[in-house]
Amino acid sequence: MTADIAPQKTNLLGMSRGEMEAFFLSVGEKKFRAAQVMKWIHHEGCDDFAAMTNISKALRVKLAEVAEIRGPGVVYEGTSSDGTRKWVLEVEDGSYVETVLIPADNGKRRTLCVSSQVGCSLDCSFCSTGKQGFQRNLTAAEIIGQVWVAQRSVGPRKDTANRPVTNVVMMGMGEPLMNFDNVLPAMKLMLDDDGYGLSKRRVTLSTSGVVPMIDKLGDEIDVSLAISLHAATDELRTELVPINRKYNIRSLLDACHRYLAKCDDTRMITVEYTLIKDVNDQQIHAEQLAALLKELPSKINLIPFNPFPHSGYEKPSRNQCVRFQQWLYELGYTAPIRTTRGEDIDAACGQLVGRVKDRTKRHERYIQSIQIDAD
Ligand code: SAH
Ligand code: SF4
Repeated sequence: MTADIAPQKTNLLGMSRGEMEAFFLSVGEKKFRAAQVMKWIHHEGCDDFAAMTNISKALRVKLAEVAEIRGPGVVYEGTSSDGTRKWVLEVEDGSYVETVLIPADNGKRRTLCVSSQVGCSLDCSFCSTGKQGFQRNLTAAEIIGQVWVAQRSVGPRKDTANRPVTNVVMMGMGEPLMNFDNVLPAMKLMLDDDGYGLSKRRVTLSTSGVVPMIDKLGDEIDVSLAISLHAATDELRTELVPINRKYNIRSLLDACHRYLAKCDDTRMITVEYTLIKDVNDQQIHAEQLAALLKELPSKINLIPFNPFPHSGYEKPSRNQCVRFQQWLYELGYTAPIRTTRGEDIDAACGQLVGRVKDRTKRHERYIQSIQIDAD
């Protein structure tokens, strides 16, 4: 006896323009359909072919037979008193990822912090995502699905001047350059006019320093680049960011120079520096940092360490963060201290996912502090 197995439908959500055009050609349709359907999906937040009124009824029926538009399920959605919004999303295998939308500049800027992996293999000593280990890469659909969900729940894009999401930072869970093949099409959709139409300066990829992949990234796309430096000597950085053993500070800075050289406009590298009490928050560290960055067009973001249970690290006092900022200032750097947002909905540290887990007996999921690069 043979069981009827329904053929798996193709999910169109994560397809870049090239992939979508190839899909339409493969089902005997014209390439221009790709742009039409992309607009429905990404501008309108549509997941139902029947609603795509500028497409013939026959094609709508055919599409519904072979394809689908499937985003992540929303497990929780909350808004904090400071306006930060957060979604806990359930992806394919029942894993959870978190996405946070942070308003700034009197509502002019709304920055979405997007995850690229469930967990992370790079094991930075101060990062709660690193502590949970690596579970899996997110698919392109799951990555762009975070933008799609946020935009759908904030409201459809009315016009380019009034976007629900104005900036994206790949600073959620995971190391985006360890999931390059899925992150790239998702970022292409963020930039594509028939996708989210964001300027390349408003889409930022943050990496702990996977040097060969920085070169590969620069060959494919010129989004803004942030590096998680956190220390200005190899000895200390290796302790905090173990991938430094493989790709040391010099090789990372060289890769940044090569990346900037490929950009066709004037650009700076964002340098993320998480301040950890008595570890990297002393005057000598500020001096070493300033000296190291002399040659690199860069701006420094100071991130007070976001504590989590059993991390073994502490957050420096506010005064110490300001002192560090002042030392940098005296050495010629204006470095903002990124404040934690959305604390009343745990938007900064993933405790919410822990609570969902307690109810559902799912695996524990964390997300580390979200820090936003202002454009
Ligand atoms: N994997 C990438 C992107 C995600 S992490 C990367 O490492 O760059 C986003 C930023 O948050 C990184 O700069 C990371 O070092 C920082 N971060 C991680 N855990 C943190 C914590 N507990 N407190 C403050 N910043 C943290
Ligand atoms: Fe991974 Fe980034 Fe956390 Fe390091 S800081 S463990 S690279 S998510």
